[in-house]
Amino acid sequence: MRKRQGVGALMPLLFVGMSVAVAGMPVAPCDHKQAAIEISLQRIVNEWPMRGSGESVSQYVQKLGIRLAFSSLYGRNIPWQFWVVRNLAPNAFSIGGGYVFITDGAVNFVRNESELAAILAHELGHELAGHFCVAPDLIDFGGLFDIFSAPKTQQHQVGVGSLTQVIDPVKEQQADQIAVTILQASGYDSHAMLEVARRLPKGDGVHPVDFQRLRALESLLAKIPPIKAQDSEDFLTIKRTLAAEQATW
Ligand SMILES: [Zn+2]
Repeated sequence: MRKRQGVGALMPLLFVGMSVAVAGMPVAPCDHKQAAIEISLQRIVNEWPMRGSGESVSQYVQKLGIRLAFSSLYGRNIPWQFWVVRNLAPNAFSIGGGYVFITDGAVNFVRNESELAAILAHELGHELAGHFCVAPDLIDFGGLFDIFSAPKTQQHQVGVGSLTQVIDPVKEQQADQIAVTILQASGYDSHAMLEVARRLPKGDGVHPVDFQRLRALESLLAKIPPIKAQDSEDFLTIKRTLAAEQATW
């Protein structure tokens, strides 16, 4: 029987992008948001089909996420949890408190491990930049930042299940820039961030492609030589695992 695909299947698959100084990744404590974050987590777990933490795909994503997070000093102080959503629509999002979500579809979407690292690193970027601490009050009602949605010209919101998706071009650009730093520091090809951005589905009329984001990433990466990062055996194994699993659906 086909498994429930969850609300993500309805989401637009676009992207955002650009830059802002980040280097030290300063973050203010945001304990005041913790209760709201826990409520968001509960909603997501209740509404969406999560993979168990013992599944090989979940364990791989957790390991990759931690490797990326530990590339920064501040990243080592956050209690990260990486969840895999059993959903074929490519998406990834974070809700604060170290909670990061990525769908099966996003794992299918990537062509190599650096691209998967780039998607996770973008979500880490939102956390490390403190976006959840300074986020508008709507975060208190369940908010998230995702990677596959392009902004309009300014901050706006759209619904994602019972949560509110925050789309703020400046914050997306900051997350991109931090992601590039994380990829560099952890041995992945930082140009994968741009590759992922370029490959995202084109504008659907509601969410136009954010060319400014692409230009900004191009400009940032012009100073950083690409590297040849080898895909790990674990990465190749989970790609095969998902393909085999989906072939039976
Ligand atoms: Zn984002």
